[in-house]
Amino acid sequence: MKTKILASLASIIFTGYVSIAASAPPHWSYDEEPIWGAIEDAALPVPLRYPYAECGIGQHQSPVDLADAKIVSAKPLNKLSAQYKTDTPTFFNTGHAIQVNTSKNFAGGLKVGKELLPLIQLHFHEPSEHVFGGKKFPAELHFVHINKDGRIAVLGVVINIGKENAVFQTILDNMPRHEGEANSPSRVRFNPAKLLPSGVNAANLKYLTLAGSLTTPPCSEGVQWYILTKSITISADQLEQMKSFYHDNARSAQSLNERSILSNQ
Ligand SMILES: [Zn+2]
Repeated sequence: MKTKILASLASIIFTGYVSIAASAPPHWSYDEEPIWGAIEDAALPVPLRYPYAECGIGQHQSPVDLADAKIVSAKPLNKLSAQYKTDTPTFFNTGHAIQVNTSKNFAGGLKVGKELLPLIQLHFHEPSEHVFGGKKFPAELHFVHINKDGRIAVLGVVINIGKENAVFQTILDNMPRHEGEANSPSRVRFNPAKLLPSGVNAANLKYLTLAGSLTTPPCSEGVQWYILTKSITISADQLEQMKSFYHDNARSAQSLNERSILSNQ
């Protein structure tokens, strides 16, 4: 399972480098969201023929409406610390989102309790995927971390319209225009920590957390989500620039199915 998640995620991350491999996962689009689980890979035998089945039958899917659950703050939770450093990343147009892949030697990550999960990539959705009482935010940022045994933790930050964001502009300015293209080596100095909300203590973040999944096919579960309780801003013009790459690249809220949401607020 863990290997499967890692392999799937790797395929998402590296699609740009392998044009048409024999094992390329089937194409999907946001228009097809209601039938992601039924998309077939006709080249594969029956047990493997529906590689995105989890999107349709999974019971712990993401995103969710954060107002649908009672938020429990009584339980002691792991301390969450974003330990990101300056990097020279790859700017990657995935075909579904604009994404920044950290370099091979990047040592930063998300420390959950005592464990540091390396930051692999970050990407953006428009509008937000997580919603609150049905309310969508203009956009959402996901920092994706994967540890050695394949466990995934995603740090989500909702984005409001407001002051221009210089770090976000660096991403827009260096992003290749065409699907599957990567700007690598970019030689652009970029610190993911500068995308965190201003005024938060990166060494002890306030968050909501729940168990969920990847929000794009194959929708693999076993992903731990951490959603910050503070937002960041980009300007209205920057949102338009982002939409000129991708818009409406957000999965709709999925059923909570008895999951609880915990908070360290
Ligand atoms: Zn995402």
